[in-house]
Amino acid sequence: MSEYQHRARKRFGQNFLHDAGVIHRILRAIHAREGERLLEIGPGQGALTEGLLSSGAQLDVIELDLDLIPILQGKFGHLANFRLNQGDALKFDFNRLEAAPHSLRVVGNLPYNISTPLIFHLLDNAELIRDMHFMLQKEVVERLAAEPGGGDWGRLSIMVQYHCRVEHLFNVGPGAFNPAPKVDSAIVRLVPHEVLPFPAKDHRLLERVVREAFNQRRKTLRNTLKGLLSSAEIEAAGVDGSLRPEQLDLAAFVRLADQLAVQPKAVP
Ligand code: SAM
Repeated sequence: MSEYQHRARKRFGQNFLHDAGVIHRILRAIHAREGERLLEIGPGQGALTEGLLSSGAQLDVIELDLDLIPILQGKFGHLANFRLNQGDALKFDFNRLEAAPHSLRVVGNLPYNISTPLIFHLLDNAELIRDMHFMLQKEVVERLAAEPGGGDWGRLSIMVQYHCRVEHLFNVGPGAFNPAPKVDSAIVRLVPHEVLPFPAKDHRLLERVVREAFNQRRKTLRNTLKGLLSSAEIEAAGVDGSLRPEQLDLAAFVRLADQLAVQPKAVP
């Protein structure tokens, strides 16, 4: 099948990049080099793949859509630095790539319907990753890069910023894709910290406190966290219980999680 016969499938979140200027700008932001280890998620018909391969980097790709496999194989199968993996990136075991710690560079114009769970799946393997460059819904990039105090600051911002430095690089309009999505898009760079700036005693407790706090983001922390921490325990973490969750920075959430770690009665 030629690429022209492939019909974009909505259920696979297929919006193929066709704007050469945008493709070039993304490749420049990634700036792949010979000898690096790259992983592209959802290569589609290869809009980014071609430029990534011409850098001389070693590229693994993961594509779910079986119809795209022969297209990708036909275009790039003869290249020694290309390896095609068919499957679901959400279930992919990144250890299979045998990449050295902090070496893997992950890129992708991601299917928007799975972008958040995919980022969490990648963060579970953060120690393998050097950096990530993703095309995402602009609104999601704004949440990833948010700062405390505004409506975009929430669970996604905090859990991603716990692990990574986040840079909102540039926006991309719907016209760069075929078919055009209904939303604006943006490119984000995520760089996992080699040393966490605010390490929690137990990462799962941080997730728990953050989830609980943002379940009802209009309420005060004293109210939303009352099943986990008393007012006195919130104060002991150096946090004002009369604040709302969006007013707290990452360091304060980590202090609350650590307070929970010394109060085992609060953990079921
Ligand atoms: N990279 C191409 C481009 O920029 O033109 C395609 C981008 S398109 C937005 C998303 C791609 O991810 C599609 O090729 C789709 O088939 C693939 N995909 C969707 N769900 C996937 C999954 N769970 N694992 C791997 N690939 C997936």
